[in-house]
Amino acid sequence: MGGRILVVDDVATNRILLRAKLSIACYEVLQAADGTRALELARSARPDLILLDLAMPGMDGLEVLAALKAEAETAAIPVVVVTAQADTRSRLAALRAGAEDYLAKPVDDAILSARVRSLLRTRMLAEELALREGTWRALGFGEAQARVEWGGAEAAAAPARVALVGPDRLTTRGWQRALAPRLPHRFDAMTRAEALRLARSGAADDARDPGDDVPEVVVLGADLASPGDGLMLLSELRASPATRHAAILVVLGAGAPQLGPMALDLGASDLLEQPAEPEEMALRVATQLRRARAADAMRRRLREGLQMAVTDPLTGLPNRRYALSHLGRVAERAARRGSGFAALVLDLDHFKQVNDAHGHAAGDSVLRAVADRLQRGLRAVDLLARIGGEEFLAVLPDTGRDGARTVAERLRSAVAALPVPLPGGGSVAPTVSIGLACVDAGPPGGSPTDVDTLIERADRALYRAKSAGRDRVCCSGDAPAPSPASGRRPGARGVAAA
Ligand code: GH3
Ligand code: MG
Ligand code: MG
Repeated sequence: MGGRILVVDDVATNRILLRAKLSIACYEVLQAADGTRALELARSARPDLILLDLAMPGMDGLEVLAALKAEAETAAIPVVVVTAQADTRSRLAALRAGAEDYLAKPVDDAILSARVRSLLRTRMLAEELALREGTWRALGFGEAQARVEWGGAEAAAAPARVALVGPDRLTTRGWQRALAPRLPHRFDAMTRAEALRLARSGAADDARDPGDDVPEVVVLGADLASPGDGLMLLSELRASPATRHAAILVVLGAGAPQLGPMALDLGASDLLEQPAEPEEMALRVATQLRRARAADAMRRRLREGLQMAVTDPLTGLPNRRYALSHLGRVAERAARRGSGFAALVLDLDHFKQVNDAHGHAAGDSVLRAVADRLQRGLRAVDLLARIGGEEFLAVLPDTGRDGARTVAERLRSAVAALPVPLPGGGSVAPTVSIGLACVDAGPPGGSPTDVDTLIERADRALYRAKSAGRDRVCCSGDAPAPSPASGRRPGARGVAAA
């Protein structure tokens, strides 16, 4: 995993040392010897991560951090403070100002590289989501606010469910006492077994909705029943659909900080060493929650965007794009199994007259009513889509010619059964013409029917139904359409042997 890292330190040897460590891992390393240069580089070179010294002449690290977080362009770049001032006050000040983490010099190699990997991974995920969201926006879907919000205090303000999984009741209670007065969230103590059950519950969670009862943050002890067993739970939580996207803050036992790098590599969002300063714990939970929520919001917008891309807003039915791809899959499966299926193209008769006589809004309500009648006449496995202005497609899997004809006739008569009342008073009596194309059952493992050809056949049958007087069903592959000379009673309804 590549990435561009900016090292800010006034002492050249410190920069060179960090640079050497990071270059081994193939990161691109930029250097700045003072705050002003750091801000310049942050703006122009857009590093993926900044390692920032606190004590520097001129602008000190905290000032640089504040300036970075104040600017929209640089606010999202994660910053890790690396410094010799390891006291609680400066650590809290850095976290409060928006630092992701605080590493004391001399920096432990393992923890540095695991921390860098973890932050770059999170950042790349956030960027990937933002990129996809950008694509949707460019296509005309979704709203305009899509920035990756790593900053922003309001995002963490709404109450969340936070699970506390500690080694024993006393410790968990201590965490609760540290967090509850500082944050507006619900803190639930959970045993290891309860957390495991949660991880194994099936609740899917590709884009969590607010109000779901799955915790948004888990504070997890690294040592529960035995040393390091919290990390096993961590992997389970990361693998489970219910908790995959939760922020997980791992609390390392006082004696075992060496588990930190492993925890980060297993997917911990953040680390904290026991005994933890209450405020530090609260700050870290707030930061992680904010980040998890920003990613959730993006996933949700993506999901909605996807839905919009395949849905017709007027009727709520799948649109043409979706229907054709679905039809392709139905054709492939039918070929594999050797089963038959049918496609129906349905077109409202003289629909232009409805608009002309009653207005476009009335036409819309007729379309909705017809969509509803068609949908009710189909099985759950059938697909109904709106593929054009007043044109629908029904796909009937595992259906033979006779069955499809019966369904088509049922749909035709369902549409014509009752007039549709109009919102402004009055009513319209809609009718629909239907072209039907079937693929007959055959030996399994054949090659799939070409979807475009199938639709063309249904279209031609539809055309015959129209010319034969409308409000009827014609089947592709049947005898030629009846001409007026065929003796068929004009206006006769029902299935024409076209
Ligand atoms: P035919 O029986 O030959 O199909 O006649 P038609 O009038 O239904 O066919 P034509 O293709 O001439 O006109 C289709 C009409 O459908 C024209 C258009 O205004 C109307 N239409 C298409 N989409 C919509 C829509 O979303 N809402 C409304 N209200 N009308 C629509
Ligand atoms: Mg029409
Ligand atoms: Mg039409």
